[in-house]
Amino acid sequence: MEFYGDYHTHSRYSDGREQVERIAEAARRRGLSEVAVTDHGPQLLVLGVDGLHSYERLLQEVKSLNIPGVRVLAGAEANIIDLEGRLDIPHRLCEELDVLICGLHPYTIPGNIQDGYRLFGSNHLRHLGPGWRRKAVNANTEATIAALENNPVDILAHPGLFFEVDIFEVARACVRKDVLFEINCGHRHPPPEDVEIAFKAGVQFIINSDAHFYDTVGELDYGSYLMQKLGIPAERIANFRFGGDEGWKKKR
Ligand SMILES: [Zn+2]
Ligand SMILES: [Zn+2]
Repeated sequence: MEFYGDYHTHSRYSDGREQVERIAEAARRRGLSEVAVTDHGPQLLVLGVDGLHSYERLLQEVKSLNIPGVRVLAGAEANIIDLEGRLDIPHRLCEELDVLICGLHPYTIPGNIQDGYRLFGSNHLRHLGPGWRRKAVNANTEATIAALENNPVDILAHPGLFFEVDIFEVARACVRKDVLFEINCGHRHPPPEDVEIAFKAGVQFIINSDAHFYDTVGELDYGSYLMQKLGIPAERIANFRFGGDEGWKKKR
């Protein structure tokens, strides 16, 4: 299996352990020609960047890097903060970044109290019974689809992780909005049955590491395993190297 890029990694600007340059070196060691550093948005408690200025610094830093053979992209993993799908990164900055990922994460500061209750509160209560669970799934699905519709998102991070969603509905929204559906190797998520649903719904996948360490940059084995197990052809994987055609189209 051969991939040319990894588009989801974390540096010390958020909760990763490495400097940007070391991530680029790790990518080169793996034989990748592109890597994106996509630090967590600021409304993720403790783990997020300590302010939007971190992205300005990241943008400067990737410009000044010179790692032969590896193009380093500045990105973000924005948090979905309410049911309207707002992100914790303003549109102006989204347009400046090379790659925009979004996802739902626990310990996110919600955009407002009501949505915080429906989105994050109902997820805490979902174990109380099927009614609560359904409410949580509906809220998570609604927020995710709204985020894809209202923002220039390139990649939906680990769909259904931490927050259960209606995978088919979310996958259809990815197809409609031309958003890549992520197979996240760091979390080994989504499980094969969900990937199969997304495959049948017609999504284009991207296989990422979600690396927080040097050694896990470009670690994409879980994706290779799913491609084989489910018979997903290479042309359905945005970052798979085939026919010399490299580089998927970002929205900016
Ligand atoms: Zn994430
Ligand atoms: Zn991540």
